[in-house]
Amino acid sequence: MTPAPAPAPKPRPNAPRIAVVGGGIAGLTFALAAHRAGLVTTVYEKSRQSRDGAAGLQLGPNAVRSLERLGAGPGLRSVSSRPARLDFRHWRDGAALLRVPIRPGYFVRFGAEHHVLLRTDLHELLLGLLPPDTVVHGAPCVGLREGADEVRIAFADGTSAVAEVVVGADGVHSRVAARMHPGRRPRHSGMDAYRAVVPIGAAERAAAVDAVRVWLGTDRHFLCYPVASGRRLNLVLVAPSDAGADPEESRAEPVDAEVVARSLLDWDPAVPALLRSSAELHRRPLFDRDPLPAWSTARTTLIGDAAHPMLPHQAQGACQAIEDAVVLATLLAHGGRSGVSEALRRYAAHRAPRTARVQGESREYGALLHSPAGAELLAGLDADALLDLMAWTYGYDAEEQALATALA
Ligand SMILES: Cc1cc2nc3c(=O)[nH]c(=O)nc-3n(C[C@H](O)[C@H](O)[C@H](O)COP(=O)(O)OP(=O)(O)OC[C@H]3O[C@@H](n4cnc5c(N)ncnc54)[C@H](O)[C@@H]3O)c2cc1C
Repeated sequence: MTPAPAPAPKPRPNAPRIAVVGGGIAGLTFALAAHRAGLVTTVYEKSRQSRDGAAGLQLGPNAVRSLERLGAGPGLRSVSSRPARLDFRHWRDGAALLRVPIRPGYFVRFGAEHHVLLRTDLHELLLGLLPPDTVVHGAPCVGLREGADEVRIAFADGTSAVAEVVVGADGVHSRVAARMHPGRRPRHSGMDAYRAVVPIGAAERAAAVDAVRVWLGTDRHFLCYPVASGRRLNLVLVAPSDAGADPEESRAEPVDAEVVARSLLDWDPAVPALLRSSAELHRRPLFDRDPLPAWSTARTTLIGDAAHPMLPHQAQGACQAIEDAVVLATLLAHGGRSGVSEALRRYAAHRAPRTARVQGESREYGALLHSPAGAELLAGLDADALLDLMAWTYGYDAEEQALATALA
């Protein structure tokens, strides 16, 4: 992949110095959106290299529209797939419940496509579009001290950095969010996700490359879609947790694929067969949190999972992080150095209601997917009715919304 380098806009003369804690999808997209808006950022990422290799990601039209505008479109198309259909199936025999045309349906309806890809490919694409030295790896933030004019960030090795704005993009177990709201910890949902990326076998190829397939069962579901330009298949099983979860962590741990496949022996045989084909299957507990009462202080704010961790049932966590990134960068660019706290206030006021709705609907959608009524309900819907339900999510234009908020 050779991403197109972002044009180097002139830095804004009175731009605030911005530090981002966390170089995941939220932090890197924010850094790119800020760069394109003439702001200079430094991203401090705790890990030494990008992780989550064995995991895929769906990006809905609301996120793809923003990534295209940030210059990531050609790179995205070179590593992703654009499936033709979303297929809902019955767990027992794989019988079709509902088929939703994604391509060209989403483009026609929402003005952008739906992409599926490896997370690491998106990380590398974003990194490649940033000016060199934007990201400092191996820099775990251990504390923040906010003063009237600046914020000091302390790192685990005893060093520190100073910025006029700090953006907490440090994920579901965010230190920056915990500092703002010490009592509001993420909540384990009682569900775990089992994930793997497997080669696509010849027999699977035709069906696999063209669809996001979801098998609905009572209390669990399984889905798969192509990644790595259609050469591999991303597998996700969401099932009730049989292990506790550390409230401070949601680290993925390896599990025995054969044991997991055996728990689905009465399912459509395609599902346990796919799980068995994985050389490495990882389990990760699923967390979310009720919406926070506030995201911003005068000089610090939150984006992505740090602000609004959500269950993955609508495939919107990273998409909402991308929307946050674009809105925040646009508002900071319009606010200048003197308008930082007002930009952070407007950002939170604009984004919090929308992300709270997505968080709530992701819980509701999970409950529906895992109930006996869910399959019946889907089987009774037509594709247009489902797209009507998704229109407020997929039709959102982050840049347009941010400009309207900035100029209001
Ligand atoms: C099973 C599953 C499937 C999903 N599928 C989808 C999907 O298809 N589509 C979708 O849109 N979303 C999906 N999501 C949600 C998506 O993964 C998250 O919403 C997204 O990764 C959030 O990005 P982020 O950058 O906010 O957080 P993260 O990706 O968690 O990144 C946070 C970064 O901060 C770093 N960090 C943490 N602490 C510190 C610190 N103290 N100092 C410095 N750095 C730190 C971490 O190392 C990490 O790099 C899924 C989630 C799960 C669990």
